[in-house]
Amino acid sequence: MENSKQMRNWLDNFNLPHPLVIAGPCSAETQQQVLKIAHQLKDTDVSIFRAGVWKPRTRPGNFEGVGAIGLKWLQKVKEETQLLTTTEVANKHHVDLALEHDIDILWIGARTTVNPFMVQEIADALRGTEKIVLLKNPINPDISLWLGGLERLYAAGVKNLGLIHRGFSTYDKTKYRNIPEWQIPIEVQKRFPDIPLICDPSHIAGRRDLIFSLSQLALDLNFDGLMIESHWDPDNAWSDAKQQITPQTLVRYMKDLKMKIPTFDEKDYRTELEKMRAEINIIDQQLIGILDKRMEVANRIGQLKSDNNVAILQARRWNEILGNMISEGVEKGLSKEFIMKVYKAIHQESINHQRKIVNQNNQSPKDQK
Ligand code: PEP
Ligand code: MN
Repeated sequence: MENSKQMRNWLDNFNLPHPLVIAGPCSAETQQQVLKIAHQLKDTDVSIFRAGVWKPRTRPGNFEGVGAIGLKWLQKVKEETQLLTTTEVANKHHVDLALEHDIDILWIGARTTVNPFMVQEIADALRGTEKIVLLKNPINPDISLWLGGLERLYAAGVKNLGLIHRGFSTYDKTKYRNIPEWQIPIEVQKRFPDIPLICDPSHIAGRRDLIFSLSQLALDLNFDGLMIESHWDPDNAWSDAKQQITPQTLVRYMKDLKMKIPTFDEKDYRTELEKMRAEINIIDQQLIGILDKRMEVANRIGQLKSDNNVAILQARRWNEILGNMISEGVEKGLSKEFIMKVYKAIHQESINHQRKIVNQNNQSPKDQK
């Protein structure tokens, strides 16, 4: 990846706006559905129309896409609305058909990015074309796998590259369908500042009420664009119904999202500052999440101690934790005083949680309401 500067140019070369807005349904369902949505997205901030025609489904038996016929519908979209078009490709056959049908931009999905064989096959099929290719992050939070995909495409001469952040799969259930792990795209952006980075809040959220705030955060983090799933009748979409929004809602979001356009002089300072503040906000949210997890374990310990009639405060255990954390912290450049203050507060909160459990358990049944 010796010259990432060259890569950015596609945004300018294709005369595309910044931030770039890609929208359209998760899946192409019928010609009428595709055209109806495209016409509703025409003359808005959207410049690229998306629709999946081959759908990678986690479980068999769900709608797997209409196949190549959908490419013809995308051609019609372009003819009738002048929107550029994009679809997902997952193998050489898809690439050949997409090229044949003159699809403007191809994206590689999260389930394909995890597979170097498939990425290589796609890269080879694209050799010598000028296509713009957007690579989604792999479903697991592995930065090397993501960048490895980029390197394979670049080595095959695919120079018009972009990245899409769509969050990462987790075993734990969270409020997100795919947790954002923002530190990963931020790291990618630091390493390749000139490769456009696009956020897909629809697949991160998995539900429509989180899409606006995720989009705002991505813009605050200096992402170059958004890919948002939009359907004229979201609740009845054939795939990803919960996370799609209507074109009308999308237009409202675009109006309400704050795009930072600082004056030239303050541009660098202001955008850097905003970006770092957004990074701090993410870390603070993670800190609260981790503290909450720690207290949840403390509650369980409280329950166990109560069941076994063991005292809550055990000085030896506490001294051990404090000693370990001080040496870990000092090694990382944090002061001993700071670690002591933080851990005293955490320890006190844990004790309070455990006491509450023990008190609840000690209440005789007649005291309980
Ligand atoms: C999609 O964009 O509809 C899709 C299948 O995305 P992902 O690869 O991010 O799951
Ligand atoms: Mn989808």
